[in-house]
Amino acid sequence: MSLVLFGPPGAGKGTQSALLVERLNMQQISTGDLLRNSIKKQTDLGKLAQSYMDKGELVPDQVVIDMVNEVLKTGQDNIIFDGFPRTVAQAKALDDLLVQKNLSLRKAIFIKVPNKVLINRLSGRRVCSSCGAVFHIESKPTKVADKCDNCGGNVIQRNDDKVEVIENRLKVYDEFTSPLKNFYLAAGKYIEIEGELPTEEVYSKIKKVL
Ligand code: AMP
Repeated sequence: MSLVLFGPPGAGKGTQSALLVERLNMQQISTGDLLRNSIKKQTDLGKLAQSYMDKGELVPDQVVIDMVNEVLKTGQDNIIFDGFPRTVAQAKALDDLLVQKNLSLRKAIFIKVPNKVLINRLSGRRVCSSCGAVFHIESKPTKVADKCDNCGGNVIQRNDDKVEVIENRLKVYDEFTSPLKNFYLAAGKYIEIEGELPTEEVYSKIKKVL
């Protein structure tokens, strides 16, 4: 059973995906993670993507569609699409990919969180540059300053979590990603979940959908 998780930046898509992977053995396809990996490796795609990501802009549709096409296996089940699609063009392309690869989508879950909360979450978010663990300067600080609790790696602020970029990411979200709501409503797959609730409560609501 595959799912799309979408919502504004900071809604908790990554956190919920990690729980679904850990507890239900689902497989996460996160275009944000794939792009950050390419940046780390400094591939041509990574260099191109970085120029968009650092400004809070979306990477061009065809780049992410090709990337998903590459990792998506025929007949693969229990996938969480995390942060993809982010435009209606990507959603249409995903529908085509699903048909080509003999897959189906159960629901598209929108995680709803007010902007004030998103800004606090994003500006305080810190991530481990080695294992990707996520912290927050107020609600989940590291035990040792700037060191990951899990692996001891360096904990940093993502470039696109800087205050000046957050505002643009939220604007880009409103313009390009929020129309997915109508797209998935029309497809009869849209589900809305309150994302301001504690992580475990959000998780149990998602689990119910499954
Ligand atoms: P995320 O980790 O999902 O918050 O994504 C971080 C950044 O990667 C976004 O702000 C975009 O610049 C880029 N990105 C991730 N997924 C996509 C996508 N599906 N389409 C376009 N750009 C994306």
